[in-house]
Amino acid sequence: MQQFQQYIDGEFSDASAQFPSTDPSTGRPWALMPEARSADVNRAVEAAERAFYAPEWAGLTATQRGKLLHRLADLIAENAQHLAEIETRDTGKIIRETSAQIAYVADYYRYYAGLADKIEGAHLPIDKPDMEVWLRREPLGVVAAIVPWNSQLFLSAVKIGPALAAGCTLVVKASEEAPAPLLEFARIAHQAGFPPGVLNVVTGFGAECGAVLTRHPKIAHVAFTGGPDTARHIVRNSAENLASTSLELGGKSPFIVFEDADIDSAVNAQISGIFAATGQSCVAGSRLIISAQIKDDFLARLKAKAEAVVIGAPDDMATEVGPLCTLAQRDHALDLIAKSIDQGAGLITGGTVPSGDGFYFPPTILDCSDAPNAPCVHQEFFAPVLSVLSFDTEEEALRLANDTDFGLASGVFTRSLTRAHRMIRGIRAGIVWVNTYRAVSPVAPFGGHGLSGHGREGGLQAALDYTRVKTVWLRTSDDPIPDPFVMR
Ligand code: NAD
Repeated sequence: MQQFQQYIDGEFSDASAQFPSTDPSTGRPWALMPEARSADVNRAVEAAERAFYAPEWAGLTATQRGKLLHRLADLIAENAQHLAEIETRDTGKIIRETSAQIAYVADYYRYYAGLADKIEGAHLPIDKPDMEVWLRREPLGVVAAIVPWNSQLFLSAVKIGPALAAGCTLVVKASEEAPAPLLEFARIAHQAGFPPGVLNVVTGFGAECGAVLTRHPKIAHVAFTGGPDTARHIVRNSAENLASTSLELGGKSPFIVFEDADIDSAVNAQISGIFAATGQSCVAGSRLIISAQIKDDFLARLKAKAEAVVIGAPDDMATEVGPLCTLAQRDHALDLIAKSIDQGAGLITGGTVPSGDGFYFPPTILDCSDAPNAPCVHQEFFAPVLSVLSFDTEEEALRLANDTDFGLASGVFTRSLTRAHRMIRGIRAGIVWVNTYRAVSPVAPFGGHGLSGHGREGGLQAALDYTRVKTVWLRTSDDPIPDPFVMR
């Protein structure tokens, strides 16, 4: 079996223990991963802290940091296919998606490379004579970046890029479910020439590796992507070190289609909105909210497309839907579907998993119009399962869209400009896509509220969020400061 190592202080090493990682297309272990325990995590944080203050990093100009990030972007672009193959092997995510996504990850690093020397302080028009007052933007310190297994090179890039641009150092924790892509990324990032300790990559289980990392007194900020329950642990841990947190959590995103929409576009966007990444995506448009006037026709088209999806091995370029990452996820999805059907949901297609190796799951559509409180409508779970609700009025559409504890993404399909604006205002989510879905860019902030977390990744603000402001007061008068205890 292939073996991977952790990356601490510029060196690759074995961790305190090892654990096997499973190939989701066969259900069998394919590689041994380093399991970071407390000692490994402590070593990584100490290395990152030393690097933060060392002149090799702290003494670089912002432009020099940007050049290192440009070099990293070049290396990602050169190695994109290799990284995509490893991600596909370890996560089961299909190769046509990993190849495209990792090539784009290089653009994220390039964006933050360019931003490094555009993070500016400010001069204040202070209300006192003979005084200059300005704000310096300084890096926060050591950042713990914790990512889930899905899209991990992308989800780590939106943390590593802005943090390094701002001058922070990092300990990145890969998910125990599929850590190979990030550990391989570390091998490639090593060649970019960052000073030792600036970027460290470990992996291990949440209960030890994750908890020790997020509680560590030297951690200034925890940038987390994952589920709400884990986020609660992290926020509780931050009560120890008072680290700031940014939390990118799950979603149960509404995909709203009005009767005046371009139906062909809406069908295609809904298919990719829910079945891309085999339904394992935080922004999946997992709740179709469809005008009752077009429901039957729309569902018939969706069903036909869903049943024509090519299910197959993730490393085959022809595959459109691959296996789920873990068996536990598959069992959980089947359980929620069964409970939803018990509560009155109607199965339109899918819902039965094939026999044989691997954690495959067919595109599934459930009509939940008569079961609006079914678990499939309200719980986030990672599987290609679409729940359908229908509405008669715009007000009802908005009410259904906002009937969720999450607030990450949303989609609206309509040709009416005025209605689009009303929906944009009314939807409670961090992202509204109008007549499109799933578009992302390094330039555009990304994030949610409610159970979807807080903070934004992407865009200029994300780099500023890895800095703190230092207020500098400089007296410009040469007159002596008068003795405060002599009355005048
Ligand atoms: P998860 O929360 O189980 O795990 C995420 C990471 O947290 C892993 O690295 C895990 O080891 C770590 N972790 C677990 N317990 C910990 C603890 N006590 N302390 C510190 N770290 C700990 O999530 P998952 O199942 O791997 O991923 C799926 C979730 O991620 C879904 O809810 C999905 O919506 C969310 N997600 C959100 C976004 C976004 O940008 N909003 C993107 C992708 C995924």
